[in-house]
Amino acid sequence: MKVSIDRKLCYGSFDCVHRVPSVFTRADEYGDVLPGREDTGDDPQVQEAADWCPSQAIIITE
Ligand code: SF4
Repeated sequence: MKVSIDRKLCYGSFDCVHRVPSVFTRADEYGDVLPGREDTGDDPQVQEAADWCPSQAIIITE
C-alpha cells in the first residue's frame, strides 16, 4: 500500500516525523514521505501515524 501526504491538509505539526522518522521527513513547513518509502502504507506504524495526524493529511491507498 502507498502512503502520501496531502499538502493542502498538512500544516506541519511533524507528529508523523517524530513517530516514524524512517518514513516521514520535513520538507519546508510540511511533512513529506522520504524518497523510496512511498510503499510503506501497510506498516502498522505508518497507519498509526495516519490515525494520529491532527489534520488527517496522511493518505494510504492500495
Ligand atoms: S502529522 Fe499530519 S499535519 Fe503533521 S506534519 Fe505529518 S502530515 Fe502534516
